[in-house]
Amino acid sequence: MSSNSTKITYTFALMILSMSLAPLSALANAPLKTITLPLPEINKGFDKKTTDEATAEAKDQSKEINWQEHTVKIGKNDSLSTALYRVNINASTTYHLGHLKNSNLITNLRVGDKLKIWVDKHDKLQRILYPKSKTLAYEVIKTDNGYQIHEKKAKVEIRTETAFATINGPFYLAAKRAGLSAKSIMQIADMFAWDIDFIRQLRKGDTLKVIYETRYLNGEYLGDGDILAAQITTNKGQNVHNAFILRKNKEVIGFYDDKGHNLKKAFLRAPVDYVRITSKFTPRRFHPILKKWRSHRGVDYGGPLNTPIHVTGNGKIVARGKARGYGNYIKVQHAGKYLTVYGHLNKFGKYRRGQFVKQGDVIGYMGQTGLATGVHLHYEFRINGKHVDPLKVKFPAAGPVPKKYRNEFKKKSHFFLTQLNRLDAPTQIVRNFE
Ligand SMILES: [Zn+2]
Repeated sequence: MSSNSTKITYTFALMILSMSLAPLSALANAPLKTITLPLPEINKGFDKKTTDEATAEAKDQSKEINWQEHTVKIGKNDSLSTALYRVNINASTTYHLGHLKNSNLITNLRVGDKLKIWVDKHDKLQRILYPKSKTLAYEVIKTDNGYQIHEKKAKVEIRTETAFATINGPFYLAAKRAGLSAKSIMQIADMFAWDIDFIRQLRKGDTLKVIYETRYLNGEYLGDGDILAAQITTNKGQNVHNAFILRKNKEVIGFYDDKGHNLKKAFLRAPVDYVRITSKFTPRRFHPILKKWRSHRGVDYGGPLNTPIHVTGNGKIVARGKARGYGNYIKVQHAGKYLTVYGHLNKFGKYRRGQFVKQGDVIGYMGQTGLATGVHLHYEFRINGKHVDPLKVKFPAAGPVPKKYRNEFKKKSHFFLTQLNRLDAPTQIVRNFE
């Protein structure tokens, strides 16, 4: 990574960090790219230990000169016992370890794991280090009170980054080009799944803007973290959809728009997960059929044969069968007045007539049974028996930002919105020159 983008990242991280220290209005007007900060020192390796542990380890270091270090690779049919046996640890020690508190942390070994084992000149076990992942390791140490198992967590550095994409084809590819990981793209698609039909509402020239977290260990990229804020325009920029995270400690409570409304609704905007389809198929392999809904009172979605079809809301399957026009079809009754219909299915999912389904469950697979000229899903949305365009209905939303978080959310979402509004193509070009 170049110093340029690193600078931007840190500047941005600083602004977010300092949110609690300075009045918001001052920050909102602060220039984004002009502050240059020295890079903070990167925390090397695992967390600092408590004083007691450090003292104990210092004592150990002197002895360690006489210890022998072994690396044992776990193969098929290996266990902690066979690993220890290979370095001449006696069976009673192994038995003892297996009965320690949290012993499962060191006995649940996987093929390919590497254990580091230290033994003294009397073949007595002194220490085991079991790296579980890049950021987590388990350690067994010998103390005056016997063996103890510890967890060692590496300190992960969280950075804040931004992405900007102009849509000129499948959403997935545009987001990928902007530098977002597959995980982040799916997260964005999921959080907007209630509001945006990614097949029918995105147009050439629409934009995606994202502020998101990335995780680093000793300067090495580990992966993307949470999406903090995102903005997508639809219908050639006519509609702007915002999403802002609400977290308590590190737990995500939900995503809300700039007015604090929950992005979650009683119905998904579309029964087909277009973003996931286009992440696996090249766009040339299918063309969404975009018939006018008025002409036949439904919305058609094209896609590869057997594309999973998700029920758009919680409800009960009231019909599952075959008809001349619809082919294989399913009707789902939702709380009171809503009914959804899915037609031309190639095959049904596991849910039968009379069963309850939850929003997002796969109830069938796309096909061209009945009167259909190509593989597609025919989707209808009815309110009190009347056909309505599902793209235009206002769906009831889940609860808004809880009262106790409202002030905090207002400040943070305002801050993020200011940043999103500043994000544009030129900012992105700077990142692309890395
Ligand atoms: Zn149709």
